[in-house]
Amino acid sequence: MVLAVALVTAGCSDDSEPVTSPSSAAPVFTAGADGAGDPYFPKYGNGGYDVAAYDLKLRFDPKTDQLSGTATITATATQDLSSFNLDLSKLAVSAVTVDGEKAASTASGAELTVKPSGGIARGREFTTVIRYGGQPSRLANSALGDGGWLETPTGAIALGQPESASTWYPVNDHPSDKATWRLEMTVPAGLEVLSNGVQSPARTDGGWSTWTWSESSPMASYLSYVVIGQYRIAASTHGGKPMITAIADSLPADGPAAKSIARTGEITDFLATKFGPYPFDANGGVVVDEQRIGYALETQSRPVYGPAFFAAGDNETVVAHELAHQWFGDSVALDRWQDIWLNEGFATYAEWLWDEHEKVQTVEQSFDDVYDNYGWDQTPETTGDPGAARIFGDAVYQRGGMTVYALRKTIGDAAFDKLLVAWTTQHRDGNATTEDLIALAEQISGKQLDDFFRAWIYEKAKPPKP
Ligand SMILES: [Zn+2]
Repeated sequence: MVLAVALVTAGCSDDSEPVTSPSSAAPVFTAGADGAGDPYFPKYGNGGYDVAAYDLKLRFDPKTDQLSGTATITATATQDLSSFNLDLSKLAVSAVTVDGEKAASTASGAELTVKPSGGIARGREFTTVIRYGGQPSRLANSALGDGGWLETPTGAIALGQPESASTWYPVNDHPSDKATWRLEMTVPAGLEVLSNGVQSPARTDGGWSTWTWSESSPMASYLSYVVIGQYRIAASTHGGKPMITAIADSLPADGPAAKSIARTGEITDFLATKFGPYPFDANGGVVVDEQRIGYALETQSRPVYGPAFFAAGDNETVVAHELAHQWFGDSVALDRWQDIWLNEGFATYAEWLWDEHEKVQTVEQSFDDVYDNYGWDQTPETTGDPGAARIFGDAVYQRGGMTVYALRKTIGDAAFDKLLVAWTTQHRDGNATTEDLIALAEQISGKQLDDFFRAWIYEKAKPPKP
């Protein structure tokens, strides 16, 4: 993510763990937790199961702002489950089945609790079908910003980090539970629908068009999105994969946004020379003309850009940033929000790489600029543990980028190049932590790096220039 405007921040909610029965010879079926246990956002996501796939069949009518349809969720129980939760905000559930049998459900806040007719044994795959609908809205009480469903003059935009998905579909809304994803979105004919992954041909019937998008690589829920409205779509192939870019009709056809996004393939190819093969089946970008989207987000396989990034002219740097996240953040995803510097540090470093490639300035000059101007004494957070309210802080982005370059200088270019590709290969389609990065860097370089990482990411003091 790159912010174009500052977010308002607030504290996060408290947590409570469900009580489980003592073990006995017979399996004890207990309720799945109502949070995934993330130290920063304990209520995000849920416990007791692991989603493999979401399949959404939805209809949105911009005239009434009503969204309705079904979500089919295939998951595997990770405990003997008596009931389990999904995250769903503001929308009403009208029917739930689990493996074809009617299931009870109750909603409380953004938690939907599903109680199947019988328990689900640990290790069993089960399919939940949820019929739901209503008028979606943003997450006004989110700890950070106000992600989620946003009505626009011609349609809607559902987008946001660290959470947004629960405003439009029932979800295990934490990046540790990645899943494949398929969206069928039916809208009035004449509107366009953009989303993640590969597009199937749209079909129109009775004044409504159905657009289908599929993401075959496991995806963190905050990286899913939908954009509905009037867009100019350009479809081609790049490196044998579909390349789909879209610019809001209200933005100029040959303006800075269009020109910058048109370089998506070229920038991807450049980054692949550093990070290894591009990890997804599709690529592209979407530029919205909505001032309330004051950021760009690395939505999987097709980032979404707010208009502010192109207000002053071409901006390939933001494109390089969001495309770098396809490796760092999307393919290799967070296991906990504390580690967000793994996303933003490498994406910031990628901006410097691109500037060097474009002969703007060298990576070393970019590092020096940030090092000389960073608020060493004022920045309240550390890079490696910024706190829930500061996950988009300078320590995560600027000091995170500096940490990546300092690591390169410390272990040398050969080990560093090897590390980048080993990281994106070993953790492809998975999740990883800061500890995983430190271990791999030490293994590849043969150096003990505890002191290096302590100085750069867990302390606030200014480390010496590497
Ligand atoms: Zn970012």
